[in-house]
Amino acid sequence: MAELTLDSITKIFTDDDGSDIVAVDDVNVDIPDGEFLVLVGPSGCGKSTTLRMIAGLETITEGEIRLGGERINEQPPADRDIAMVFQSYALYPHMTVKQNMSFGLEESTEMPDEKISEVVTETATMMGIEDLLDRKPSELSGGQQQRVALGRAIVRDPEVFLMDEPLSNLDAKLRSTMRTELQRLQEDLGVTTVYVTHDQTEAMTMSDRIAILNDGVLQQVGTPLECYHEPNNEFVAGFIGEPSMNFFEMAVEDDQLVTEQFTYPISESVRSEVDGHERVMLGIRPSAISVEVGAMPADDHDFATVVDVVEPMGDEENVYLAFGDERGDSVETFVATVGGMQRLESGQSVVAHIPESAIHLFDTDDGTALK
Ligand code: ATP
Repeated sequence: MAELTLDSITKIFTDDDGSDIVAVDDVNVDIPDGEFLVLVGPSGCGKSTTLRMIAGLETITEGEIRLGGERINEQPPADRDIAMVFQSYALYPHMTVKQNMSFGLEESTEMPDEKISEVVTETATMMGIEDLLDRKPSELSGGQQQRVALGRAIVRDPEVFLMDEPLSNLDAKLRSTMRTELQRLQEDLGVTTVYVTHDQTEAMTMSDRIAILNDGVLQQVGTPLECYHEPNNEFVAGFIGEPSMNFFEMAVEDDQLVTEQFTYPISESVRSEVDGHERVMLGIRPSAISVEVGAMPADDHDFATVVDVVEPMGDEENVYLAFGDERGDSVETFVATVGGMQRLESGQSVVAHIPESAIHLFDTDDGTALK
């Protein structure tokens, strides 16, 4: 069993002035055998450092990493049954594809040459690169190089794959094809995989679970849909989902939430969630807002707004809406994603419906989800 456990791992770097940089802060994740876990977060949040600690390329300041229940902190990278695929592919330029793929096996196993050749050819066929075995990396396209890099990891038949933004150098179309291919491959091989990306489409579509990091601190681990629908905090809510969730900081007044731009009535059950808070952050996903042209506000969760900018995307469009400024000078804009057939236009008056069932509420001090 290749269950991978990150048990309270911390990485502290020391910079040139001697001050500490906490790159990874007490991270706990249990990755069951065969799981595809995607590690996401903004630039500098500690994704690569976490991956490098698992690979053995970085020492661990505190905590323990276990593979199949066994502590591997002190094991040199070559002794860990782990294969890593990098963004840069890291192929040896002077070797052919076949040599690149064989090299690891020749170095680390007792496997006879004939068997190595068989395994490499089999894997190359699976990856659709069997015709390229005699070429050098410089004679390959980016997509082909990436297949070779993946193939090289696969021939080693490791217990764990680590992948650091492996698709980010490919163009959008190839990235999307490779995404599906890689996901299918991982499922077929059943190898525990930790995949780093800052691309949330990759995170949402490829993973069994997502682990979201910010400033070295783990924010949430869950299935893509859990993280999307039940974010633990404001950071996760804003990070997952495209366009991002809309946020409004509002004052709590009796049975309503109030900003300068609008008043949002709340039911008794929502009122109880915000008890004891003077202010809360209201969050609403763009896709949860509906927009109607030529209508009057019909209930107290309907708001008169004006279309500011429309971003057509074919089947859908992102509509940036502004509340009227009757109550002050400031105009707050927010975004709704609606069907592309609505063909809204800038300057149009529309009614935006923000259903109470779809709102999220967060603590304004620490961002914790209240609803
Ligand atoms: P990106 O998406 O930009 O690659 P990341 O999430 O992978 O970012 P890391 O590369 O893990 O982030 O870096 C985490 C933090 O640790 C950053 O603040 C970075 O500057 C710092 N850091 C990383 N490596 C070192 C190092 N060798 N010495 C000092 N600080 C480092």
